[in-house]
Amino acid sequence: MIREEEREMTRFLSELIQIDTSNPPGNEAEAAKLIKEKLSEYGIKSIYLESDKNRGNVIAYLGEENKPRLLLLSHLDVVPAVREEWKVDPFSGLIKDGYIWGRGALDDKGPLVAELYAFLAFRDLVDELNIQLMFAATADEEKGGLKGVGWLIENHPEKIRAEYAINEGGGMGLPVRGKYIFPIQTAEKGVYWFRLRVKGVPGHGSIPGSGVNAIALASSVIERVVSKQPDIRMTDHAKGFIESFLRISDKSFLTPLVSSPQLADKVLDKLAKEDKGLAEKIRAMLRNTVTPTMIKGGVKENIIPSLCEVVFDARLLPGSNKEELLRYIKEKCEGLDYELEFISEEEPTESPLTSPLYEAIKAVLMEELENAVVTPVLGTGGTDSRFLRRSFKCQAYGFTPIIVDEPYGDFLRRIHGVDERISIKNLVWSAEVLRKVIVEFNETLRGH
Ligand SMILES: [Zn+2]
Repeated sequence: MIREEEREMTRFLSELIQIDTSNPPGNEAEAAKLIKEKLSEYGIKSIYLESDKNRGNVIAYLGEENKPRLLLLSHLDVVPAVREEWKVDPFSGLIKDGYIWGRGALDDKGPLVAELYAFLAFRDLVDELNIQLMFAATADEEKGGLKGVGWLIENHPEKIRAEYAINEGGGMGLPVRGKYIFPIQTAEKGVYWFRLRVKGVPGHGSIPGSGVNAIALASSVIERVVSKQPDIRMTDHAKGFIESFLRISDKSFLTPLVSSPQLADKVLDKLAKEDKGLAEKIRAMLRNTVTPTMIKGGVKENIIPSLCEVVFDARLLPGSNKEELLRYIKEKCEGLDYELEFISEEEPTESPLTSPLYEAIKAVLMEELENAVVTPVLGTGGTDSRFLRRSFKCQAYGFTPIIVDEPYGDFLRRIHGVDERISIKNLVWSAEVLRKVIVEFNETLRGH
């Protein structure tokens, strides 16, 4: 890539970071309009849509409408940042020592800029496109996407519809013994938040036996849930990841993860002593998880509480469902008087482990780096890909090509953490890899 474009990308990302899109409240309008301007600078028309006051989304297309669509998706909003915790002002977009600093540099404004410049690279190549290439930068991802992709699907489905998509959620290459492993997010766990109301009987605090203590009952439920999480279950997405990791790591003690998954917890306890982050990440990929996250109970110092509410965050593997979760909870609440209410329900979603787009990503990475290992991975968190997979059976992949250039733990901590930054080298490389993936994918769709 020529130096001038490199400088332009760097400056543009810096500008984008300087627009504070902390969500809540989001206020993505200004950022969306800046992108719209950039697109028109390159002679590309785009659509600007507001889901609510100041909640901007911007979409652009290249190529003919009747061709299969490949969407490059990113989000404009960021999680809040506490200024005092950072070495630099998180909304300064400071460019220093080869890095662009600030909230959103990695999640998701940096990847957004990489996708934007990959998209722009095709502005004069429209006649060669066997696909319709689409770029969308949307609002509200960090708060669930209902003012962003979710809203677009409800209100303008044709504008956001896509057969294929590249989004955040994977693709960051991590160094393992001289190789780089690139996990491509092929599936996401479902998210089920629910409130459990455990009931007791009020009484006087001075005579414990005069009532039935709802806080004590709820805490016994919590104890049972935390100490006995749902059983291990292997999915193809997690298996693909573990197998690739095993192939290149020297940790042969991990082999039972694939050969006898029921031993996974023991094996992962051992891994945790060396690499706690990786061990817990794999553990969460191997089972449905149910985690207590909020609790409320009691009304006064001297009254035995008759009600205790606990909120749980449950994450379900592809192939699991709500009924399974309900059975699990019922078992943990046996003998109790309780009510259960769902706050939010999002089914797990998945894309095929082999597809022209996945293969194109793989081919380009292996060509870029001879020591690249490309693998599927199951996302334990959620991204906007779930809307696309659910509504359009879209083959969406979490792929932000970045090479992790510092200890992995430090790198991960920056995302939603402090001192978030991206190297200019990574930003430029990311755009270039995406461009090549589009070329490769476009080739495979020739004649379709
Ligand atoms: Zn994100």
